Amino acid sequence: MATLATERPTTELDDFREEVRTFLAENFPPSLKGKDNAMSAVEGPTQETPEQAAWRKAMGAKGWGVPTWPKQYGGGGLNREQAKVLAEEMARAGAWNPIGGMGVMMFGPTLLEYGSEAQKQEHIPPIARGEIRWCQGYSEPNAGSDLANLQTFAEDRGDHYLVNGQKTWTSGGQWADKCFCLVRTDKTQKQGGITFLLMDMDAPGVEVKPIRMISGMSPFCETFFTDVKVPKENRVGEEGQGWTIGKRLLQHERTNLSGGGSAFRTAGVSLADIAKKYVGVDEQGRVADPDLRARIAKWEMDWRVFQLTAMRVMAESKAVGGVSEVSSILKTVGTKLGQERAELTIEIQGLQGLGWEGEGFSEAELTGVRAWLFGKATTIYGGSTEVQNNVIAKRILGMLDHQ
Ligand SMILES: Cc1cc2nc3c(=O)[nH]c(=O)nc-3n(C[C@H](O)[C@H](O)[C@H](O)COP(=O)(O)OP(=O)(O)OC[C@H]3O[C@@H](n4cnc5c(N)ncnc54)[C@H](O)[C@@H]3O)c2cc1C
Repeated sequence: MATLATERPTTELDDFREEVRTFLAENFPPSLKGKDNAMSAVEGPTQETPEQAAWRKAMGAKGWGVPTWPKQYGGGGLNREQAKVLAEEMARAGAWNPIGGMGVMMFGPTLLEYGSEAQKQEHIPPIARGEIRWCQGYSEPNAGSDLANLQTFAEDRGDHYLVNGQKTWTSGGQWADKCFCLVRTDKTQKQGGITFLLMDMDAPGVEVKPIRMISGMSPFCETFFTDVKVPKENRVGEEGQGWTIGKRLLQHERTNLSGGGSAFRTAGVSLADIAKKYVGVDEQGRVADPDLRARIAKWEMDWRVFQLTAMRVMAESKAVGGVSEVSSILKTVGTKLGQERAELTIEIQGLQGLGWEGEGFSEAELTGVRAWLFGKATTIYGGSTEVQNNVIAKRILGMLDHQ
């Protein structure tokens, strides 16, 4: 049938947008708006309602929780433009991604690059369906910033390794099904003696002790390994390649953490709107306090510049084959901006910004305080800001290592 000259021809992208809209209309109930049950929640998994479970399964079946991962492993197989359309339409519908956590953020992309075909087929689809939780076994009591000092030892026993040692700060270790772990297979070399292993958290000899924080929460654990048998098929890459693979995973982690983490939980509302509510407006309708107004404007400009830079870096990194050391710049700047926003929010709210519990405080105020406090961790985890600055100095600026 002939189309009118004024009609815009339907493009493939328009068709895809239509497909997304139909899918969302059929699968995302409006009652779930704002009821994000993300797998990455710091407080631990909350009980999924049947509605939330149905939404996770629908997204998992489409592969749209990991839109750009290959279709053959359960991903969406979308190109960048399609993924953007998906994100736009989900935002329009108020829909959230029910599939997340360390499997999506860090482990999946790393395994897709370094894993064997059998490992990809085994581990990627359950991540894409949101069925499996992964935790990260990197840090040890004497191996944080100096990660290559890790001592957890995996002894070669023919068809398996026997693992002994201790990890610490294992986020979500008590809820995880599996752990991607850096272990030592050679005591004579530092970085070159490290190997990347996949471990079952319910294997005999794995013991998890949640670390209780002053807030009463236990978002991370100590993890002990005593004579844990790990089949050789669970080694990613070669023996001694763990440092290279482990660093790659950190680049994915740092890129993902650059959003500032929970310091942005109040990010749906602009700082100016928060300020207008608590500080009031002048006769021109602007934030009444000129000094505060200038600081908010500076933050908004810095944030916008950061977002544009992040978009440019992501586009460039796609062109050159993925994440790189530039992730250290994104993490350093993004987390600093996240902390600054949280500080400004608390300052704007005055005494109302310091509530811990009680009826005198709104939900947003209480959430804001927790976000402000948790924001402190963002410049530590995934490698501290000082360590990122070292990476930037050495690997990006090419400055000499004087150590
Ligand atoms: C909330 C949270 C969650 C975490 N989750 C996990 C997890 O799931 N899995 C995991 O393996 N780890 C996790 N970690 C651990 C995290 O990776 C480490 O805390 C981090 O790498 C710093 O190591 P550290 O705590 O041992 O501090 P240290 O390495 O002892 O550092 C102490 C201080 O010295 C500074 N410093 C150290 N070396 C240098 C240097 N060469 N130059 C300049 N300054 C330096 C650091 O910047 C820091 O300020 C988590 C941490 C936090 C806070």
